[in-house]
Amino acid sequence: MTPLSSDLSALLELQRRDHALADRVGRHAALPGRRREALETLEAARAAAEKAKRDLETARTERRGLEKEIAGFQAETERLERQLFDVKTNDEYKAMQHQIATVKEKSSAIETAILEHMEREEWLEAAVKAEEEAAAAAATAKAEADRTLDAEQVTLETEITERTTARDEARRAVPAALLSRYDRLLAAREGLAVVEVVNAACGGCHRALTAHDLQILKQGDTAHACEECGRIVIDPAAASG
Ligand SMILES: [Zn+2]
Repeated sequence: MTPLSSDLSALLELQRRDHALADRVGRHAALPGRRREALETLEAARAAAEKAKRDLETARTERRGLEKEIAGFQAETERLERQLFDVKTNDEYKAMQHQIATVKEKSSAIETAILEHMEREEWLEAAVKAEEEAAAAAATAKAEADRTLDAEQVTLETEITERTTARDEARRAVPAALLSRYDRLLAAREGLAVVEVVNAACGGCHRALTAHDLQILKQGDTAHACEECGRIVIDPAAASG
């Protein structure tokens, strides 16, 4: 087997290093988004806890209003009951009793409403507790995420520096003409300029290679382009010769 020419070997190595570098650069670029996501999750949990507290406070205020109304009705009932002793006629007495019954009915309806409020408050208290626990858990998760992301950032920045140096080193091993062809392809083909043969097809666009293509690639001495995507295709088997 013909060994892959040193130029093509250098080109393939450059592509590997560029690919590895681009991977780190991409992951580094994704860090702010991940930080934002972690913060938004925490903010949403805190907002939910605040809303639950507000709902509970509103329910309590409403109940205090109802309790005042009840107190008013009780005073009214007591006043009417005292007046009962002063009525002179049977009709007056009946009218007064009817009035008392009406006030008591209203009072009873509000008592029911108060009971319903108390049940709702119990439910809201549980909701506040649950939301506060969730917010505390979210704060812990956010702190953990920050630590992880900080560590990842340090690692990635170190790797980017090291891999940039390694990539630049690989560039020096590729002849100028081939390098400029590579750079054009890299920009035009989403960072993938050089691909290997995969199942007798272009490893970039997967177009089947002809027997003639495969024959040329097996020689391993020319930078052969895929007819479909224009990427430089290399037969890795030619490298192991
Ligand atoms: Zn292709």
